[in-house]
Amino acid sequence: MKTLLILFTTLILLSGCATHQSPTGRNQVLLFSSQELEQMGTSSFAQIKKQEKISQDAATNRYVDCVASRITAVLPNSGLPWDVVVFESEQVNAFALPGGHIGVYTGLLHVAENEHQLATVIGHEVAHVLAKHSNEQVSRAQLSGIGMQIADAALGAGGISNKELYMAALGLGAQVGFILPYGRKQESEADIMGVELMARAGFDPSQSIALWQNMAKHGGEQGPELLSTHPSHGHRIDDLAQMQQQVMPLYQASKPAAENSCQFTK
Ligand SMILES: [Zn+2]
Repeated sequence: MKTLLILFTTLILLSGCATHQSPTGRNQVLLFSSQELEQMGTSSFAQIKKQEKISQDAATNRYVDCVASRITAVLPNSGLPWDVVVFESEQVNAFALPGGHIGVYTGLLHVAENEHQLATVIGHEVAHVLAKHSNEQVSRAQLSGIGMQIADAALGAGGISNKELYMAALGLGAQVGFILPYGRKQESEADIMGVELMARAGFDPSQSIALWQNMAKHGGEQGPELLSTHPSHGHRIDDLAQMQQQVMPLYQASKPAAENSCQFTK
């Protein structure tokens, strides 16, 4: 099986069909199909739902759903249904997975002070999915030789035998110390794409700067996705400040009437 996979991988690389361009024009090596990634995302999400406490608070769920659904409505493939789950946890974190899954931890809601700041994070996470960053991470793991279990799971050969390695490859390795976090370039790409998504969804992009300032203040407790592996806060805030002129017109064009904003109401 291993020999076959290596051969398969080599053939793909030689034929060049595994090299793709990310939405911002970066070269990406993607060894898996979208369907395989969706399958991985869906099984990981089911696992996380079993492990974490799911919030039953109606107001919190309504608020997070409101923000998330406006973001997913402006995606290129807006027909895809997205499953949005709020986890009861002090972690300042959120994630999105291929297959249409979004997880938000309640700890994030203390740092993201309003709907625009929450939209910044959800936009960023969904951008990781749009830009196929999980596929890149899993592919890189396989190429570096540590991803055989991942490949087996993806190809249905051995089931999900090594769940931890598998989740780590999806950038979710909270349980295993984040073996394969997204890289810096992927983070910057998710920032750029995310701020455009939030603006298109009618959220104020200038609040993305306030969000990362809040994150920097909160830096003591480092959440796995949002804080530990991201570009320095100063750097990302500069980049987002530069994006403002470009995305502000998108926001002005899609800004909803005040009564349609996403408010947290008990
Ligand atoms: Zn990220």
